[in-house]
Amino acid sequence: MSTDRPDQGPHDPHDPSGSHGPSGSHGPSGSHDPSGSHRPSGPYAEVAAALAALPLLDHHVHGALRSQPDRARFEQMLSESDRPVPAWMNGFDSQVGLAVRRWCAPLLDLEPRAGADAYVARRQELGEAEVTRRLLTASGVGRYLVETGFAAEEILTPAQMSASSGVPADEVVRLETVFERLLTSAGSVESAVRRYPEVLAERTANAAGLKSVVAYRCGFDFDPAPPSRADVVRAAGRTLAAGDGAGDGASARVDDPVLLRFLLWSGVDRGLPLQLHSGYGDPDLDLHRCDPLLLTDFIRRVEPRGVDLLLLHCYPFHRNAGYLAQAFPHVYFDVGLATNYTGLRSHAVIAESLELAPFGKILFSSDAWGPAELHFLGAHLWRRGMTRALGRWVEDAELGTRDATRIAAMIGWENAARVYGVEGDR
Ligand SMILES: [Zn+2]
Repeated sequence: MSTDRPDQGPHDPHDPSGSHGPSGSHGPSGSHDPSGSHRPSGPYAEVAAALAALPLLDHHVHGALRSQPDRARFEQMLSESDRPVPAWMNGFDSQVGLAVRRWCAPLLDLEPRAGADAYVARRQELGEAEVTRRLLTASGVGRYLVETGFAAEEILTPAQMSASSGVPADEVVRLETVFERLLTSAGSVESAVRRYPEVLAERTANAAGLKSVVAYRCGFDFDPAPPSRADVVRAAGRTLAAGDGAGDGASARVDDPVLLRFLLWSGVDRGLPLQLHSGYGDPDLDLHRCDPLLLTDFIRRVEPRGVDLLLLHCYPFHRNAGYLAQAFPHVYFDVGLATNYTGLRSHAVIAESLELAPFGKILFSSDAWGPAELHFLGAHLWRRGMTRALGRWVEDAELGTRDATRIAAMIGWENAARVYGVEGDR
């Protein structure tokens, strides 16, 4: 395969990964320049050093893998597509594949830009637990808010993420998953609908926030008003009947717009910060219906309720999300997920995310699910992109190093800590 041989480029003295020990505990901390620039000193280098040392609060992330994937599965997980990688294609020949070879290989004791075969062989030699430990501890993430609603049996729990990384991990609960379990176990649809608020409250007693996948299940072009109880019960009945009918607690899938609206408004009633998947994801969604601008009426209706809405990912609608974050006091957004999958171009997406929204309304997330490479790269590429944007402005004397560092700390940690009420040291 074309990527099998390492690219034997000249050694880069400012290569963050080159000086990373696998035991490094703090971001790309072996280096002073996550952007990979060649500026050894000056204001840009100061910004780079500050970014490299900044602890991050990953406000939207999932667990790392429980067990080792084979080569085909690993390549498939380097994409948001849930379809197998065609035999003629190498999953490493992508932006995220290049980033894995460039930035993750040194953390597994390989040369930067190691070939795909060598990378996968080394991964298998080390074992999933060790790979995960190395990549999580090297990310410099100081706290995780872990969403547990998707394929939880394949990934680590929040407690296991905390054990592997050595930092705290809180849970974010998916609205739809709680209802799907309840619907198939409650005995009647009336009981499921009546008991949902109370079951959600119990399930989220210690949770940091809530998450909705209404974008996946129907899109954002829904009627923004809360539905009537009678409509919700009818919709729940249709959903239960459309399952496999076994009633064993495993089969209901909530994709009825009426039911999804009921869950959303129940989430607003619960009062925790509410995350909404926005923009791109796997082929289960219709991307043209996931533009967060379609949520504008819903956003207006939620505003008097005092509940913060967090638009996740947003790509390629991140500029629209920036507008909503500027316009509405309770709207925040991130460009997680897109950061990983745009790889070498992620600095451009990150710079675009800084265009319109006040800096107090932008958050950092990786949205990693599965291979810990994605957890590491989410943090590393964010540092790289922020360094390039802020470092350039400082170099041009548009703002000072102190302001650049302050803005990075807001987006990297403080905004999320405020929204989710996270206490304690960074
Ligand atoms: Zn996610």
